[in-house]
Amino acid sequence: MLEQLRLLVRLQATDKTLFDLSQERDTIPARLAELTRGEEALSAELAREQAQLDELLKRRGALEEIADNIRARLRRAENRLMGSKTPKEYQAANAEIDDNKDALKDNDNQLLEMMELVESLEGKVGGLKQRLKELSAVSKKERTQLEKRYHSLESEVGRLETKRSKLTGGVDPKLMKDYDFIRQARDGIAIAPVSEGACNVCHMGIPPQQFNELQRMDKIMTCPSCRRLIYWADAPDFAEAE
Ligand SMILES: [Zn+2]
Repeated sequence: MLEQLRLLVRLQATDKTLFDLSQERDTIPARLAELTRGEEALSAELAREQAQLDELLKRRGALEEIADNIRARLRRAENRLMGSKTPKEYQAANAEIDDNKDALKDNDNQLLEMMELVESLEGKVGGLKQRLKELSAVSKKERTQLEKRYHSLESEVGRLETKRSKLTGGVDPKLMKDYDFIRQARDGIAIAPVSEGACNVCHMGIPPQQFNELQRMDKIMTCPSCRRLIYWADAPDFAEAE
């Protein structure tokens, strides 16, 4: 029975490490996905602002073209004014000049407004590009570290699983079944050391009669409070099992 207990204690140590390492390993894919989501969100924001900027640039181009057309009409009207032979022609050319000057002024105001919008949006897009560049660099670094950690955890978990199967081979099948059942039901800890009369996991005292029985180490007992398997940790010949 003592040998079985020793095996279970070693198994528990292996299982605890396996549990912790597997848990750490399993958080990594979610963190990697989170990094990708962060970059994608910023990229999408940049794409939206860039599309808006492209649209404004197109509108600015159209306003510039309109201004060119008005100026051309203005020049033609000015030429007509100079070549006018009758007062009627003169007045008509003069009126056209006034109309075109008004239209140009109106268009220039719109163009000025558009240029301010473009400038502000260009600043925003530039800022987003810079942020994305920084985020990508940080994400890349973290991603590399996480992937490295993941692989090292994988290989350590593999090594421990091999160790575990060697240990379980020596444990009585009925006891192994109990151990695994308790481990799954009790946060990964199936066997608890009892020291100074108390279960070291749930910290409840073991009644004196049971504690006396436990000290004989001739059968497998369970903690009356947490129902875990228990062993007497202060046994003089137990420590050498570690
Ligand atoms: Zn307990």
